Amino acid sequence: MAELKTAAPNPFAVAQAQLDAAAELLELEPAMHALLRNPLRELHVTLPVKMDDGTTKVFQGFRVQYNDARGPTKGGIRFHPDETIDTVRALAAWMTWKCAVVDIPLGGGKGGVICNPKEMSPGELERLSRAYVRQVGRILGPEMDVPAPDVYTTPQIMAWMADEYAFLQGHNEFGVITGKPLPLGGSAGRGDATARGGMYTIREAARVLGLETRGATMAIQGFGNAGQFAATLGRELLGSIIVAVSDSKGGIYKADGLNPFEVIKHKQRTGSVVGFPGAQSISNEELLELDVDILVPAALENVITARNAGNIKARISAELANGPTTPEADEILHKNGVYVIPDFLCNAGGVTVSYFEMVQNAYQYYWDEETVHERLDAKMTAAFHAVHKKAEDLHVHNRLAAYVVAVERVAEAVRLRGWV
Ligand code: GLU
Repeated sequence: MAELKTAAPNPFAVAQAQLDAAAELLELEPAMHALLRNPLRELHVTLPVKMDDGTTKVFQGFRVQYNDARGPTKGGIRFHPDETIDTVRALAAWMTWKCAVVDIPLGGGKGGVICNPKEMSPGELERLSRAYVRQVGRILGPEMDVPAPDVYTTPQIMAWMADEYAFLQGHNEFGVITGKPLPLGGSAGRGDATARGGMYTIREAARVLGLETRGATMAIQGFGNAGQFAATLGRELLGSIIVAVSDSKGGIYKADGLNPFEVIKHKQRTGSVVGFPGAQSISNEELLELDVDILVPAALENVITARNAGNIKARISAELANGPTTPEADEILHKNGVYVIPDFLCNAGGVTVSYFEMVQNAYQYYWDEETVHERLDAKMTAAFHAVHKKAEDLHVHNRLAAYVVAVERVAEAVRLRGWV
């Protein structure tokens, strides 16, 4: 694992290299390219937090506002021990392309705090969340920058942050943050939106490939919010058989299919999917290389690299994680005929329903779940086909096609504003 970590590329360098390829294809003018290669603004904060034992611990946090040409910056906040400013920059860039590819009127941003929430009490997490908003709140707002959940942050954390922001403003401002619990202005359908949106793109990919999803085998790497809902919805919406899942502690495999609800219960009880009765244990590496129809990387960055891309046997790789595949691996997968649904397309369902949440907060009028699902489906399906068509027209892989679609839209807004 240590060896893997030191060899892992810098995610921001990856994001910039991906943009460079699109810029070349689009023949972007040098000033536009330079502008889109870097965040417009970033804030670094130092957060003193009182811990339960009476000591004070000082945390480091960030908020990056990558590009707001198309609207307020939007993107989640991660609480992770391995967070760095460059991961946040990369994720903020990907949010910019994500909002553009699904054509919602938002820019891209991201936040992060270096911490290990697994080792913190609820009280400590609440104080850290409030401390973050006390520092970063000055650059947040429904018209400026709107955070949401991401790795290891939850609706409860969003609720504390919305509450702290309300104290700063002197009044409620629900549109400042999304992924909130329903009683605090959350949207129906936000909880499973990332996975659900991903399932819609898999459905469309299967259509264009002539693959039957009913009875198809699916392996899911990562069993957090996105991975767990991918398992339940993969069965419910696509009729696929979930043969393997994994989390940071390891993976499990069962040829005739796992019951996702039972696996979720097991993880809630024991803290991991590992040791699930009746399943064979496998490593994360082995899971990625399984001979399945659909692979769903749903954990962290840089898991499919030049080292293992040649061993990927799946027909479709549906990236619910942000940044799971390196540029070298992309070339290998493309050459081998693996149909990649790139991250900022595949996982755009979360931010799409976040946008719906912002709209509902602004109107103070809330939609039912069915309406959310229908509108999400329409957005994801349109985005999928825009990217698929671009890939066919330009004879490039789907990630490059997704970049071309997204960058064209952002560049157009930048030009109209007269920035370049
Ligand atoms: N964190 C999610 C993402 O990476 C959702 C962001 C949002 O809803 O703003 O897309």
